[in-house]
Amino acid sequence: MHRYSEPLQIDEVNLPKPKGEEVIIKVGAAGVCHSDIHFMHGEWQKTLPVKLPLTVGHETAGYVEEVGESVKGLAKGDVVAVFGGWGCGVCINCKGGDEQLCMHARWPGLSQFDGGYAEYMHIPSYRFLIRANGMDPKMLAPLTDAGLTPYRAVKKIRRMLNPGSYTLLFGVGGLGCYAIQYLKLMSPTNVIAVVRNEGKARLAREMGADHVINSKTEDVISAIRKITENRGVDVSLDIVASRDTLDVGFASLGKKGTLVLVGLMGETLNVPIMQSVINEHKVIGSLWGNYNELAEVIALARKQKLKTPINQFNLMEVNKATETLANGKIDGRAILVP
Ligand SMILES: [Zn+2]
Ligand SMILES: [Zn+2]
Repeated sequence: MHRYSEPLQIDEVNLPKPKGEEVIIKVGAAGVCHSDIHFMHGEWQKTLPVKLPLTVGHETAGYVEEVGESVKGLAKGDVVAVFGGWGCGVCINCKGGDEQLCMHARWPGLSQFDGGYAEYMHIPSYRFLIRANGMDPKMLAPLTDAGLTPYRAVKKIRRMLNPGSYTLLFGVGGLGCYAIQYLKLMSPTNVIAVVRNEGKARLAREMGADHVINSKTEDVISAIRKITENRGVDVSLDIVASRDTLDVGFASLGKKGTLVLVGLMGETLNVPIMQSVINEHKVIGSLWGNYNELAEVIALARKQKLKTPINQFNLMEVNKATETLANGKIDGRAILVP
């Protein structure tokens, strides 16, 4: 990425020699995320300032190519998933296990570290890799963000989800496909997915959604009232978080309902005070996931319990891939394969 809002360029760059804890991986696949689109359009220049050029991509898996002299437990050819929430390792959040919440975060492809839209990637420490021999990097790459982010969110709310409860889900894209599966695997809740076209409706049902509402043809709030018999939903899991989905999600919450913010489309949340107080509503944010949660997601996928719908592009078609995603034309996750 040389300039914001311009097509990405394919450049030849030198491959560094790994020293100490560093590892060079040969990229097997890199997921294309909506965050990359926001980032590439310069929408996050204030929160994530970077010096360009930079290689995008924070959802990567591949093979160990070369290791520094103090790397332990990894050898050339090992299949690895890259945990992307790189932290300092010593602050209170890192020590607590939530390295993705580090005050000095240095995420690949979103900070001054080059990401995975490449043939090779430089990893500053083997601490950020999870060995996953026997797994296909094409299935593994999407797990590191699209699979990980909803996993953390669902873990936060699963104790609220008793039999007979309702969870409303906005966004049946890369993350949403996993979110439905986790909700069904980890809780007895009824999942109501809100989609904008028939393709996504089919996908939502395939992933296990109990009810699907097409917002293009139905009034979402009255459909939810009908499904929940006017009770409202227990949780609205918003992977889109645009002004529309936030308003509808909030209006659909029942007593003691919780709004979970995962998406980053909108800018602010309008909360009516009276309604929140008398119904004891809660709002919680959920960011990416930590290293152990990624290990759990990989363990779940190893049991072949996770379906990952993938749209594969060659690395050379990177601009076509990002454009197709930006236009909402990807069902599942887009990946780049060098
Ligand atoms: Zn992402
Ligand atoms: Zn830290």
